[in-house]
Amino acid sequence: MTRILLLGGTTEASALAKTLAEAGADAVFSYAGRTAKPVSQPLPTRIGGFGGADGLADYLQAEGITHVVDATHPFAAQMSTNAVGACALVGVPLCAFERPAWQAGEGDNWVQADSIEQAVEALPETPARVFLAIGKQNLAQFAAKPQHHYLLRLVDEPEAPLPLPHTTVEIARGPFDVAGDTALMQCHAITHVVAKNAGGAGAAAKLTAARGLGLPVIMIGRPKVPERPIKGNVAEVMAWIAHPSAA
Ligand code: NAP
Repeated sequence: MTRILLLGGTTEASALAKTLAEAGADAVFSYAGRTAKPVSQPLPTRIGGFGGADGLADYLQAEGITHVVDATHPFAAQMSTNAVGACALVGVPLCAFERPAWQAGEGDNWVQADSIEQAVEALPETPARVFLAIGKQNLAQFAAKPQHHYLLRLVDEPEAPLPLPHTTVEIARGPFDVAGDTALMQCHAITHVVAKNAGGAGAAAKLTAARGLGLPVIMIGRPKVPERPIKGNVAEVMAWIAHPSAA
């Protein structure tokens, strides 16, 4: 019997959940619990951490999971690393459902950063107006450059005071479009964009908008995760579920 654990959080995870539900698959969707109102899924859903790789290994055995699909955000490196470790420990096959990283194209002015620290360093010393499009984690590191005004786009209202002195908070959930992001950046007189290289369509509008406005983008590269088979679309994941050893 096949029983799938789908580690979610991305639009790809939601698309796969829909296909699995339509196929009548026995599957559990897992959220980290980072947002107050996660998108509801057509699969039984659990929310919250497993307790590291060992906790996940215990969960896989207790729940009789036969396949794990890691469709977490490309920056959720801890979860992805734990999933590889747990699956190896209990002999459950795993694949990642991952969108390709964005690539700079004609007209883009990107500065590559390998870490949040490098992104902070890449910002100018003179006061700027920065669209800090990196979600709610890692904001504190930008306090090293308090001279800038930061536009933050968050899914939920912040629960605690923000660690940055000059901010504007925009509450919104993607997908976003180019016209809207262009207007947002113009309205806030943005001079720099900071983004994580998440890939995918839903969050790419800010990059097209930045190109159109001639703004520099400080692009933070993806963290490293252990090797695992990577699938690029729902059909590939479904084929892998049918024949995981063919990966
Ligand atoms: P993480 O740092 O890889 O995970 C930290 C812990 O959260 C994991 O060890 C695990 O806890 C738990 N966890 C993560 N994903 C889970 C899931 N799907 N189901 C159950 N537990 C899960 O990941 P993160 O804290 O979620 O995010 C890290 C980075 O990804 C951040 O940079 C964030 O901005 C980005 N992110 C972006 C989005 C987005 O939609 N833009 C969504 C998510 C994350 P245990 O060890 O206890 O099992």
